[in-house]
Amino acid sequence: MKEFLYFQPTEIRFGRGRLSEVGQAASRFGSRAVLVTVPDEPCFKGLFARTGDLLAKAGMAVARFAEVVPNPTTEVVTRGAKMAREFKADVVVAVGGGSSIDTAKAIAVEAAHRGTAWDYLYFREKQPTAKTLPVIAVTTTSGTGSHVTQVAVVTNPAEKNKSALFHPLLYPRVSLVDPELMASLPKKVTASTGFDVFAHAFESFINPGGSPYTDMMALEAIGLVAKSLPAVLKDGNDLAARERMAWADTLAGLCIANAGVTMPHGIGMAIGGIYPHVAHGQALAVVYPAILDYTLKTVPGKFAAVGRILEPRLAGEKGIKAAEGACAAIKRFIKKIGMDVRLRDFDIPEGEIEALAHQSMVLPDYKNHPRLATLSDISAILGRSY
Ligand code: NAD
Repeated sequence: MKEFLYFQPTEIRFGRGRLSEVGQAASRFGSRAVLVTVPDEPCFKGLFARTGDLLAKAGMAVARFAEVVPNPTTEVVTRGAKMAREFKADVVVAVGGGSSIDTAKAIAVEAAHRGTAWDYLYFREKQPTAKTLPVIAVTTTSGTGSHVTQVAVVTNPAEKNKSALFHPLLYPRVSLVDPELMASLPKKVTASTGFDVFAHAFESFINPGGSPYTDMMALEAIGLVAKSLPAVLKDGNDLAARERMAWADTLAGLCIANAGVTMPHGIGMAIGGIYPHVAHGQALAVVYPAILDYTLKTVPGKFAAVGRILEPRLAGEKGIKAAEGACAAIKRFIKKIGMDVRLRDFDIPEGEIEALAHQSMVLPDYKNHPRLATLSDISAILGRSY
């Protein structure tokens, strides 16, 4: 068997109603919490105030930082870190999607170190130390898997660069995965975050750095997404399907934390960095069809395995025919969930494709792809995705 290493230190508390445990979970790490969220909106139905009350009931002093934005920026992180420092926070509690959890992780680093979180990106010499504040994650999307990863994705608007902190100290200490919190997700966000789950599972499965452990979880996650994403899109209050999506998100997060993502994420991150109005899941869906075509002949067996989950009738197909069938099945699935989008749909000028291709090679994700792309390959993929 292939040798592998698997690491996961996050305590995962999964199930309906788990939000009620947030006070108990956070108070293990001290008595002063910064609560990190997006601004209040009616769709959250008082969720953030409820969380603040639960923390206070557990004897905690709470300061709320409610400035998270999708594709979180360095400026927002710096404002949150200032609040955490001034408040002398012991712990950072995030309630929200990947943007809120990643903001919390970056705040946990910046509040406890010199400079800004951007100085601690994964490739820099300076890395987070044990002074990093503990993070508790309450996830409200299914999603990014950020509640079980060591990654914090941050965008630097001045550099038009979306990059990441990556360190074991960034794993949330406790994650509360409460599917009831996801019922309020609008359809569009459900589709885009749900596709991100598929992408995490698929990319860790085709990643040469995967293992029997991550492969097992990836295939399970793909099966759950295939069954449950169309169901939650039909009825957002279908809690059993929301639950399965939350579990798929958690499994896929465990996969990327150990196997990593591949080229679609490298390009998707470049798109999100330069054009922050494009949601993360949309940025992935834009390039998926072209990347599937580019990749299928390199790992036909892996494609076939995924295809047979999406469309069991492919069980009768073999070799490259099965891989081609899988490629078509994934494209049909993307259409079915309403994610068949193109670069031009987001007002991205065609003349900027070359610059986008260059930026797509800044993160090392494309090097983990089973077929190593050149700059002209990536330009061609973006051209076909326009
Ligand atoms: P998000 O956190 O940006 O949320 C999207 C929108 O949905 C926001 O407007 C938010 O307010 C709203 N929302 C969230 N939960 C809701 C709910 N329950 N009800 C109603 N509205 C709700 O979306 P996301 O896709 O979860 O996170 C995206 C970010 O995560 C990107 O920056 C992406 O790059 C990053 N990411 C991080 C990791 C990681 O491991 N750290 C992995 C993948 C992606």
